[in-house]
Amino acid sequence: MAKQGHPRGLYLLFATEMAERFSYYGMRAVFTLYMVAALFTMESASEIYGYYTGLVYLTPLLGGYIADRYWGNRRSIIVGGLLMALGQFLLFLSASFVQPAIHEAEGAIDPSVDNRFPIVCMMSGLFFLILGNGFFKPNIATMVGSLYRPDDKLKDSAFTIFYMGVNVGATLGPLVCGIFEGDYLNPTRFKWAFLCACVVMLLSTIMFSLLKNKYIVTHEGVPVGTKPTHHEKVAKHQLSSKEKQHIAVIFIIALFVIFFWAAYEQAGVSLTYFADQQTDRHVFGWEMPTSYFQSFPAIFVVLLAPVMSMLWELLGRIGLEPSSPMKQAIGLAFLSLGYLFIAFGVKDLDPNVKVSMFWLTGLYFIHTLGELSLSPIGLSLVSRLSPKHLASLMMGIWFMSTAVSNMLAGQLATLYPDGTTKHLLGFIPITSLHDFFMVFVVMAGIAAIALAAISPLLNRMMKE
Ligand code: GLN
Repeated sequence: MAKQGHPRGLYLLFATEMAERFSYYGMRAVFTLYMVAALFTMESASEIYGYYTGLVYLTPLLGGYIADRYWGNRRSIIVGGLLMALGQFLLFLSASFVQPAIHEAEGAIDPSVDNRFPIVCMMSGLFFLILGNGFFKPNIATMVGSLYRPDDKLKDSAFTIFYMGVNVGATLGPLVCGIFEGDYLNPTRFKWAFLCACVVMLLSTIMFSLLKNKYIVTHEGVPVGTKPTHHEKVAKHQLSSKEKQHIAVIFIIALFVIFFWAAYEQAGVSLTYFADQQTDRHVFGWEMPTSYFQSFPAIFVVLLAPVMSMLWELLGRIGLEPSSPMKQAIGLAFLSLGYLFIAFGVKDLDPNVKVSMFWLTGLYFIHTLGELSLSPIGLSLVSRLSPKHLASLMMGIWFMSTAVSNMLAGQLATLYPDGTTKHLLGFIPITSLHDFFMVFVVMAGIAAIALAAISPLLNRMMKE
């Protein structure tokens, strides 16, 4: 058979997802900072952030189901894109009407300032973002897989390329939106960040709807992501025992992956507070905005993705490439290691002293090695193991683990030290940054070891 390379549709999906992730991560980079600048305490902001980033990944279950059953991937993406643009616009409105309510940097909120309207706008904006992402996220990933034949060797590489798109967007979003970081004196300034996110989301949707018919087709010319056929709709969904085993593997791995993202996603919350309050952000005399740190893992993904795929290939040649479940375990191990690194950096640190950027940068670097070993490989695994008529729903299930993680991440972030003693699970005292980071070392470490231990079993279940 002639060598054909990647279908052109991959690059349209790359660009669409890149713009969508620009908007998602651009908003996210300034979101907690916006909340604490005028509307909420740090603790409430952490919780809202956790619920938001949690629910955003729960709705893919609904979006995946509706796509498999009624709308197909293409239509779901357009609906999702428009809903998200509306959501970002409502955040823009929120920040347009917000009034300064905090008089000193770390001070309390002045109850006489009426910010009810901005809060209502913000909450409704979040609602549309949550709903929209549900229609968008699982469906774009499913289409990447559907561009290829089920057994196509190019799938892993396709998902790695796609994942680079995710992260080019995730790099640029915070860099651009971060320019418009406001503060407690000028919280309105954040509105421009939200407007950027809104415009880019809209552009992404328009581009996709104009180009989809031309490009989203397989090499054989079969359109991908259209409405399910009558036959697919009425299929009885009787699964063979092999299919059931494959689905079980997806569920088991998704369960472990919860611990990965719960630790990883501290990026937008406790690690942002850490960047804000305890990290010296001066580079050659210029003070880097806090939100820029959130671009670091994404930049590292773009830089390291080619290195990692070369590494897998090299290991493959000498017969040492780890299996997909083992790669997920390696990902967890890197997460644990990243926190160990920073825990060491902040040991015995005085709360009023700022540490060098080296520590946070090193943590993100190590985390990215883990992410590349886990995330694109996970998408490819789900795409490979899912029965075709349930492909988007299974993607939704995969993302559901991120939903649980993010809610957990927000809860865990409330343990971030603030001078008082807090308790994990009600009895483990957390008094210092060192204790706080060690929580993640242990959590991800245990998950890594357990998953590595059961990976031979999972490999057997995955066999055809
Ligand atoms: N960072 C990736 C993205 O935004 C992965 C998210 C996830 O699966 N939890 O697409």
